[in-house]
Amino acid sequence: MSHSKCLRCRSRVWRDVPAAESAGFLCPGCGSELEPVTDLSELIGLRALRVRPRSPLRQSADHSERISQQIRQTIAAHDAERQRRIDALRP
Ligand SMILES: [Zn+2]
Repeated sequence: MSHSKCLRCRSRVWRDVPAAESAGFLCPGCGSELEPVTDLSELIGLRALRVRPRSPLRQSADHSERISQQIRQTIAAHDAERQRRIDALRP
């Protein structure tokens, strides 16, 4: 897995393949052939057209729990709003 760079439009692209196999890929921004990056310092100043995905290990169970909690809160809020409207229609 490696970064590639495009010097024509000054961008960087993350690819899920080893650097040795990344030759021949085209820049999603301008269509020029991407060049392999040997040192991360080459990426400085280049805009990210496709960034490195976050490590699945970093997506902790806590992250999933927060999403679940937000979904439950949204459902509860919608239920409360629906009930409020039903109550408002009652004479
Ligand atoms: Zn480009």
